[in-house]
Amino acid sequence: MGAMRKSLPVYCGVALRCIALTFILSTMATPARSETVPVEPAPATATVQSSGAWFFQDYLSIHFPSGIASLFNGYPTGQAACDVYDAWIKSRNVPSGPLAHAPYTFFLTPGYTASGICVPYNSYSEWLATNNATFGMYYYQHCPTGYSTNDPRIRGVSSATFTCTNNGTAKQCPEVAEGETPFTLDPGGLTCSRPDKETYSIKLDRHDATIEPTGTTARDVKTAQEFTATVTGSRNGVKSGATVTIRADVKANTGGHDHDDDNRPKGSLDSEKNAASPCGAANEKQACITGTTNGSGQFIFTFTSSQVSGEHTLTATCDLCAGNQDKAEVKVMVEGLETIPSSSFYTFIGDTDKHSDNHYLTPEAAAILWRIAVSYQMEQRFKLADPVTKKRTKTPLVLHVNDASLKWGGRFDVYGNWKAPHAEHMRGTVVDLRANGETGAISPGNFRKAEMLFSDQNTNYFLECTRDKKPSQTDPSPPQHKRLRSNLCVSQLDGSQDTNRHYHIRLMGVRE
Ligand SMILES: [Zn+2]
Ligand SMILES: [Zn+2]
Repeated sequence: MGAMRKSLPVYCGVALRCIALTFILSTMATPARSETVPVEPAPATATVQSSGAWFFQDYLSIHFPSGIASLFNGYPTGQAACDVYDAWIKSRNVPSGPLAHAPYTFFLTPGYTASGICVPYNSYSEWLATNNATFGMYYYQHCPTGYSTNDPRIRGVSSATFTCTNNGTAKQCPEVAEGETPFTLDPGGLTCSRPDKETYSIKLDRHDATIEPTGTTARDVKTAQEFTATVTGSRNGVKSGATVTIRADVKANTGGHDHDDDNRPKGSLDSEKNAASPCGAANEKQACITGTTNGSGQFIFTFTSSQVSGEHTLTATCDLCAGNQDKAEVKVMVEGLETIPSSSFYTFIGDTDKHSDNHYLTPEAAAILWRIAVSYQMEQRFKLADPVTKKRTKTPLVLHVNDASLKWGGRFDVYGNWKAPHAEHMRGTVVDLRANGETGAISPGNFRKAEMLFSDQNTNYFLECTRDKKPSQTDPSPPQHKRLRSNLCVSQLDGSQDTNRHYHIRLMGVRE
């Protein structure tokens, strides 16, 4: 998506952008469909003000050919009705007109407030005499369907306004909320309609991103991504003042962590460009943000990674958007890490059920580790004394490589609690080598020589113990165990070694 967006101007040029713009404009210009609902019964006491409408009605219908019914529609005045009638007669090649409107009350019935005839003559009687009632029609003014009036004042008068009352069959359109477009009764009186009401949708400007975890010493790496959420109305375009909510979540078992719980960091959201405030549960305030769209319908926010790598999901919703939402996937990762190539010069230890894959490095760092491991096996200086001959001819066991980095780097929470007792190991350049007296450990007799080897490879290292031995009341000066060389990390009380003692090696000489 992001790449596509970027490539448009470069490879497709102005023309395609014009096509895209035309498409957007034509989409926006699509006329709104109308919303139609059934009528509902009007209250028995309902009244409406009406000027009525002028309708044709034949009084000698047997004389009218088929087709005249199409003329039986409402007209604003009697004369307008007569003009249409005149045209209809002419269309049938019968000489006519002009037809004049004349009031006529003979056919008045309740609900008919006025009537008249269209006559080419001065009076109805003259017309009757001449035409022998071969053609006859009259029109009338009446209330809307379902309403009647007996108002005597306007009988025989065209285009008056009068009050109509529900005659027991009146229908009406449903009420609408204040501010909404009202429904109007459709011709025929069975349905009500109005233009579709405005619906809103929210869109993010990008749907994926890859950023690094925070908390490393690396400079010039991207640990945050800005997004723009835009709220758009179906009829009126971008919507300012809409309340937008963004939630960040993280997928279980991603980034190299084979464990999950509610405490997993979800990254943090903030907005400098729109007024915004935190939302959501107290323990994840940073992972939820809510604010209002600006004059361009936009809410601009930033997602910042935590120190823990993984796949994050951002979900954008808005108060007006009903069920509509948009999502983005953010990979928080150190790119370019590879599993350390297998070799007969070292072996891997330290994988757990929480981190089953703990041996990722950059290719460059892995190459240095390999050179160290080869030297450790091949060089005479590391040979151990043969128990029988006492000569230093015995090749030590291969280096036992403990934690490097997780698949996507980031904080290596050895205990699976998202916390960081394990410093560094975040960007695939740091590795631990066993040095605790157990199988495959570098033996204390080789510590000094191993350190020279590490220096030869321009690494940076220290002997680390992750567990301090408890000071004893009988020992007034408890030993220091961290970052000390050689045989420290050994209890001054009983000579035992810290079982976690190891060389922590910054293969690229960088603390990260
Ligand atoms: Zn973990
Ligand atoms: Zn380490």
